[in-house]
Amino acid sequence: MTSRQVKTLADAAERLGDGRLSITSRGNAELRGLADGCGAELAALLAEAGLLPSPTHERVRNIVASPASGLDGLGAADVQLWARELDTHLLSAPWAAALSGRFLFVLDDGRGDVAGLGGDVTLVAVGGGEAELHVGGRAVRLAGSDAPAAALAAAGGFLAAARRAGTGAWRVGELPQGYEVDLAESGVTAEPVPAPELPQGPPPSPGVLGPTALSVLAPLGRLTAARLRALLPAEEVRLTPWRGVVVAGADPARLPALEAAGLITRPDSPWAGVTACTGRPGCAKSLADVRADAAPDPARQRPGRSGRRVLPVHYSGCERRCGHPHGDWTDVLATAGGDYLVDGVPTPRTALPEAVTAARTTR
Ligand code: SF4
Repeated sequence: MTSRQVKTLADAAERLGDGRLSITSRGNAELRGLADGCGAELAALLAEAGLLPSPTHERVRNIVASPASGLDGLGAADVQLWARELDTHLLSAPWAAALSGRFLFVLDDGRGDVAGLGGDVTLVAVGGGEAELHVGGRAVRLAGSDAPAAALAAAGGFLAAARRAGTGAWRVGELPQGYEVDLAESGVTAEPVPAPELPQGPPPSPGVLGPTALSVLAPLGRLTAARLRALLPAEEVRLTPWRGVVVAGADPARLPALEAAGLITRPDSPWAGVTACTGRPGCAKSLADVRADAAPDPARQRPGRSGRRVLPVHYSGCERRCGHPHGDWTDVLATAGGDYLVDGVPTPRTALPEAVTAARTTR
């Protein structure tokens, strides 16, 4: 988002919602507490700021790209540029509107931070100006300059396979056996990668990313209009799938002000890596106010200071576990009696802090 778009989102949250926004595990922004009947006004506000570029394709513009790409010197290519190109191709292909709103394009710049997010079509920059295109466990290697167009062609191949199968598959993983995406038939003629593997790497830590970029996290994935405005001025604001924000064009000296605004700016913050679903009172299915129960004691440091790996932890009000992280994570699930299961182990609510700390650090 540009500065203007960030301001628009903050204004919309205050004028039409309850001033709060959530960042989802796909890096989308959700405005909370919208009043009945405000849809047209909200759409007009967002469209004017360029945040709704296509009424027909809005639900299928699901592209996650390494959010620090091009800012910190890591990565084999600036996949933010690929994301823009892919979005342009997507918007200009009328047939692409038939993709499901759950279909996901993932563009990893080679550092492995987003490759594991379960994309239906995944592009990975591999150096030497080349890319790998991964679909359904198979991959081909091609020129990076051809990668965005090839990703869209692969999505077309998925739609063709889904039509042939006739089972109403929304995602590549839902295609029945024998109905794989045929890349050659989709017009992607490239060298197959013999044993395709997706890279794995950590997300950017909260703090300084480079000479003019910062990374922060939103506590429990929640932003407010005030926190959004605190990110400005910025050249660009990128929401991340780890419920954080990468701010391009920001002086590292601004970190204390962002911390004062309630954002997570240090990897040892007790809030880092802690997420929760909506829970009570916002969700009728919830068995507990999981957001209140997930709030760490501010006096505690984040677990695992001994150097051991600390897993993300997610609190859920019911078994749907909405918005849980990808990869390994600690599962904290509310139960009917007001207590919890921590990775399946019954745990009284009063013993949660110790049990969660142990579960996050001992595996
Ligand atoms: S996990 Fe359950 S309680 Fe939490 S938001 Fe989803 S449906 Fe509601």
